[in-house]
Amino acid sequence: MAAFILGFHYVNFNLPHFKWKLALETWVMILFITLVVWNTGSVDSPLLNLYLLVIISSAITLSKAITIAEIALISAVYVLLASRSGVEYSLVEYTEFLIFFLPFMLVAYITTVLAADVNYGKKVFKALSETDEMTGLLNKRSFSPMLHKATEVAVKYSQPLSAMMVDADNLKTVNDTYGHKAGDKLILTIASTIQDCLRTSDIICRYGGDKFVALLPQLPSYKAIETAERLRNAIENTSFDVDGKKVTTTVSIGIATYPDEVSIAEELLEKADETLYESKRAGRNTVISYAKLKPESKDKDNIEQQEFGLRSSDVT
Ligand code: GH3
Ligand code: MG
Repeated sequence: MAAFILGFHYVNFNLPHFKWKLALETWVMILFITLVVWNTGSVDSPLLNLYLLVIISSAITLSKAITIAEIALISAVYVLLASRSGVEYSLVEYTEFLIFFLPFMLVAYITTVLAADVNYGKKVFKALSETDEMTGLLNKRSFSPMLHKATEVAVKYSQPLSAMMVDADNLKTVNDTYGHKAGDKLILTIASTIQDCLRTSDIICRYGGDKFVALLPQLPSYKAIETAERLRNAIENTSFDVDGKKVTTTVSIGIATYPDEVSIAEELLEKADETLYESKRAGRNTVISYAKLKPESKDKDNIEQQEFGLRSSDVT
């Protein structure tokens, strides 16, 4: 049985969900234990408690419903073993049967509760480790695998993917003038405006400090520029309150789009970052797309902008 469990457990069936594998393993364990118990004295076998192993494994790794189904199956097997031993069911036998199964139920219950607690803890820990505490957005650690996945999808299905780097202008001055709390408010204002301006399918991350990155799947360059311009404008026109004073802020944005501007999808973020610094150099409160740094790809993009009625002069 051990060889089967080990072999079966480590065979890769290339399926994302392997719970059915665990369930099958526990059913095979029941079968094996029943054979052992059958040959070692049936209900009088000293190995009867081996069924506890199955219940504990199931309660820890599988659902409550499967654990209950396994307890029901073990009960049926117990009745079968008892009838083989010539037990005739009277009130005394039924009472013995219940006394035998009570610890099994208790173990199943306690293990299920403990497993649920551990799973809840894991979920909370995962959420905390993947989220930026201040803004509730994704943090850099959880963003990396999403970027990888989005890049893979874009390349595989030949879809455009835009990356937008957004950085607050002169946050240090706000911190120095109004205090760190005002700076925090500024970061929160930018985070919520980004969420308001983008689609729910876009992936937004607080990349660190006052820098945010957004991935815009299936958005060609000219559409990403339109979106970034809308965002820049919304932030410029949003104020936040500091001790009764209305404070405003602006952002600089750099955009790069695969495959319109950047032919290697893995370089998207690096190029968007490069472009962001260009928009800082251009005087801040500005949107620049990578095509501006790489004019040969801009020619291709201009054709699309004209097709959709967007003038080149709308875009820096
Ligand atoms: P620039 O326009 O060139 O972006 O200038 P900046 O003043 O915004 O400076 P920069 O982006 O280079 O650096 C961001 C600064 O923001 C550094 C740090 O002092 C401050 N900062 C980083 N994280 C936080 C935060 O969570 N809260 C506050 N209040 N300030 C932060
Ligand atoms: Mg900044």
